[in-house]
Amino acid sequence: MIEQIHVFDFDDTLFDTFNTETFIDEICNVAKSSIDNPTVATALCTARRGEKETVIRTKSLLKNKGLVFDYHIFKPEDFDYENYVFKELYISKLIDKFPSAAVLAFWDDCDLNLNHVKTSVTEKGLSYIPIKCGPKPINN
Ligand SMILES: [Mg+2]
Repeated sequence: MIEQIHVFDFDDTLFDTFNTETFIDEICNVAKSSIDNPTVATALCTARRGEKETVIRTKSLLKNKGLVFDYHIFKPEDFDYENYVFKELYISKLIDKFPSAAVLAFWDDCDLNLNHVKTSVTEKGLSYIPIKCGPKPINN
């Protein structure tokens, strides 16, 4: 039975897109544990556009890293609202699939996303755990 839902952003959460273009192991390891836990439903939720090429490239990067989520949510090409609106809407839809879940944890580097998602999670009666991410600053 699903007890928790764990949602991971991609850019600057699982993957250091703008500096090293490599995976951020600390968060990837957390995601792996979630994926391996049968009581947790997992989702990637990224504002990367859902066009075919982007989806294939992103999923292939994840698969090579050993990360295959239950759901891979990309921002629809025709969805013209802000990213935080997109994330709140799609995470809200995800919650509806798992009535037994009591907790939603959300890893994202953007405070606006983390704060905005709180509204629908708490309205639906789940406990909310926001985890602020971001690549470590490059030293020297
Ligand atoms: Mg991000």
